[in-house]
Amino acid sequence: MTLRVDRRRCAGSGLCAVQLPDVFDQSEEDGKVLLTTPEPGPRLAGAVRAAAARCPSGAITLHGGGPDGERPRDGNGTGRPRGRAQETEEAW
Ligand code: SF4
Repeated sequence: MTLRVDRRRCAGSGLCAVQLPDVFDQSEEDGKVLLTTPEPGPRLAGAVRAAAARCPSGAITLHGGGPDGERPRDGNGTGRPRGRAQETEEAW
């Protein structure tokens, strides 16, 4: 499983960094998400899926690594990001 975050979409809530500090951080400059562990491994897979589902802006997507990561996932359960923008930008 590989993670991607769209910093343009991120609302800076900090929820993911609080839930999973081993995977996400929050920028001191703009308050937006920083992805510190783009391939978190199976031990964190459930927690990563939960964090992506809870992200209020749909900025976290999962790619590969099993049935739940075969296509991009996000908090709205459709595989499509919420809102208008369709572009995805990796944090790193
Ligand atoms: S939970 Fe979503 S909106 Fe909040 S900081 Fe993380 S990526 Fe950004």
